[in-house]
Amino acid sequence: MTKKTSSQTSGEVFLVGAGPGDPELLTVKAARLLGEADVVLIDDLVGSAILSLCPQARVIHVGKRGGCKSTPQAFIEKLLVREASAGHKVVRLKGGDPSVFGRAGEEIAALDAANITYEIVPGVSSGLAAAATIGASLTHRDFAQGVAFVTAHGADGAAVDWRALASAALTLVVYMGVSRAGEMQKSLLEGGMSAVTPVIAVENVSRPDARTVVATVATMQQAFARSALKSPAIIVVGEALRDRAAKLAADVYSQGNFANSRSA
Ligand code: SAH
Repeated sequence: MTKKTSSQTSGEVFLVGAGPGDPELLTVKAARLLGEADVVLIDDLVGSAILSLCPQARVIHVGKRGGCKSTPQAFIEKLLVREASAGHKVVRLKGGDPSVFGRAGEEIAALDAANITYEIVPGVSSGLAAAATIGASLTHRDFAQGVAFVTAHGADGAAVDWRALASAALTLVVYMGVSRAGEMQKSLLEGGMSAVTPVIAVENVSRPDARTVVATVATMQQAFARSALKSPAIIVVGEALRDRAAKLAADVYSQGNFANSRSA
């Protein structure tokens, strides 16, 4: 956790991870801070149930869902600085963990520049919660040397180096990947990843409407299209999933008892 002190302002900003959606996956610290906040700025990936923890606060929605109308990042930064400078206790609540594709870096820079006191409170990232839904170890020691958290959307459209990722013995946990599944599949195959490497996508991780789609690198694009996989979803790729992928696929085919699942 990072803490910075300032003598110039009396307000304070907390960059807080809200977890993937299930309110029970919020940390105790996050819940306490929400109950104490004057102002709460929230992302659209934060579930509405969590807002019942801050009935006293002024809540400002600053969603930035990919492809949709969003609040410019610069405006969010100005708002944080303005509210804290006015002496308010501000909670900036972000889906998952603030340090994982959460633009925490940009907000920290703005707060530093304005000499505002801040603290980061970690949350359960949706990629980690997806592993729990799948029931797999991301770092199964027989198959993976580590995990890469990857976004399929590079800054300003920069291409992701899927080929390099394909050749590393890593489990890939892909954020914002649904609309780029075709590109990802092609590059992973070109990079030498085995076509039968398991892929499991989880839509709406930790929410009542969660869905799981089981595929392989060779079938992922068709499987996602066929099951109309939608954002927000996490796509996990790697040999560490092999046992779980086989089990989930078998359940779908034989008993249909894996709710809402589709397999390719
Ligand atoms: N800071 C967040 C990630 C924000 S980027 C975190 O740590 O989870 C937004 C992306 O996160 C989405 O496109 C999706 O890939 C993923 N995501 C966030 N919440 C999710 C959820 N409940 N289920 C599935 N994916 C989710």
